Amino acid sequence: MPSDFWDHADPKDVFTEEEGAFLSASAADRYNLGEEIVLCKKMLQMIDMAAKRREGAVGAGKGSAKDLCGYDFRLDTVSVPQAFSRFLQSPAGEAVFKTGRLEAPPPDLDSYPPGFGCDAAELDPDTAGMCARKKCKPHGGWNAMLTKHVKHQMKELAREAKEKLDVEERVRESAASRYVRRKYENNTVRVIGSDGEEEPAGDVQMEDAV
Ligand code: ZN
Repeated sequence: MPSDFWDHADPKDVFTEEEGAFLSASAADRYNLGEEIVLCKKMLQMIDMAAKRREGAVGAGKGSAKDLCGYDFRLDTVSVPQAFSRFLQSPAGEAVFKTGRLEAPPPDLDSYPPGFGCDAAELDPDTAGMCARKKCKPHGGWNAMLTKHVKHQMKELAREAKEKLDVEERVRESAASRYVRRKYENNTVRVIGSDGEEEPAGDVQMEDAV
């Protein structure tokens, strides 16, 4: 296929209706996969912010680097794309990504889960929202585990998008060669147009051809 084929051919002439519908549906799917990859990148940022905040808490003497859990309840939605997307649009999520820092959750929200220091009479700005347990089993290795999970998800999404693109490519190529073949076949029967130029028979009405 000549590299400039698509500069000259009108997709409407090249694709069947089914092919056209398939290609736009597939492109829309790839767009959504791309959006999910963007979400995953934000998840990784969130994990990073939580790790930094934990370091800060350790620095402020709220626990030892070895023992303090530091899992933030706002990481609950990480690795669940739909829930995370809702979180990003919530006031709590907006606050996090506006500053690029995970801070104590805003005090006006009262739907926090218990056990993350948010139910204390006075929020500790260093640890509110964070699990302050030592050698915490339920959240053990949360940073590495979440990071691994999200990165795996990103790889899967990219693989899926690539597969879709490959299939689209094949559909485009076979439609293009079919189109060229048809043109060639039409051109084997030639007629003289009204302007005296030779024209492909397929593009000329019978009346005009007489
Ligand atoms: Zn914990």
